[in-house]
Amino acid sequence: MYASYTPDEYTVLHIELQNKYRCAEYSLDGPKYCYRPPGTTKHIQLNSANLGAWATAIQNKAATITCPPRNPEFDFLLNGPAKRSISSKSDHVQMASNNPTIVPIYLPPPVYLDRSFETPRKHRNMHRTIDYHTDIMASPAFGRFQSQEYRTVALEAFLEWCTNKFGDDEFKAAYAQLSKHKIGVDLIAETDISTFETKCGLTYGTALQLKKLLPKWRATL
Ligand SMILES: [Zn+2]
Repeated sequence: MYASYTPDEYTVLHIELQNKYRCAEYSLDGPKYCYRPPGTTKHIQLNSANLGAWATAIQNKAATITCPPRNPEFDFLLNGPAKRSISSKSDHVQMASNNPTIVPIYLPPPVYLDRSFETPRKHRNMHRTIDYHTDIMASPAFGRFQSQEYRTVALEAFLEWCTNKFGDDEFKAAYAQLSKHKIGVDLIAETDISTFETKCGLTYGTALQLKKLLPKWRATL
């Protein structure tokens, strides 16, 4: 079985990135991956989703192994909101979604979910962070789904929602392909339609619908 397994380009890139950025300094609870911007002593820690996005960007010619992609996710990682990059006992900068305790706003208690009882303004005021919108842009949250669920239960829920909306089973069938390529709901927006077509065998229309429907589904969470 294993002898005949040929990893695809995405997997190879993902592994290459892991090998290049595996951090020697902080590896007590498993390997960590840090991008170290040239000329700095910073460790920008990369989680599996970050590495995946980076690998996809390389495939799309939007990055190289040594040059990270430029998009909101990575701009946030590399630059961060000023106040966060200054703070910290260690110089490890972690992406917010990786550490829910820093940004509890992504995981509101269930009582907040029923927005019919709140005006939007009141809802906003419950969050003390002034960076609310910036943070949401930089690190998209999907309701109460945890980041490790983005390419499993969240993806399944999204595709089921699409299936029900259009009565088209291709969405449901896409689950196996998307999850195989580790394209979770967090990566759909930045994945090219051509990637969905060539890697996942989706039709153009379905791929386009996935990208269009994602924000609508997210708004229902
Ligand atoms: Zn490090």
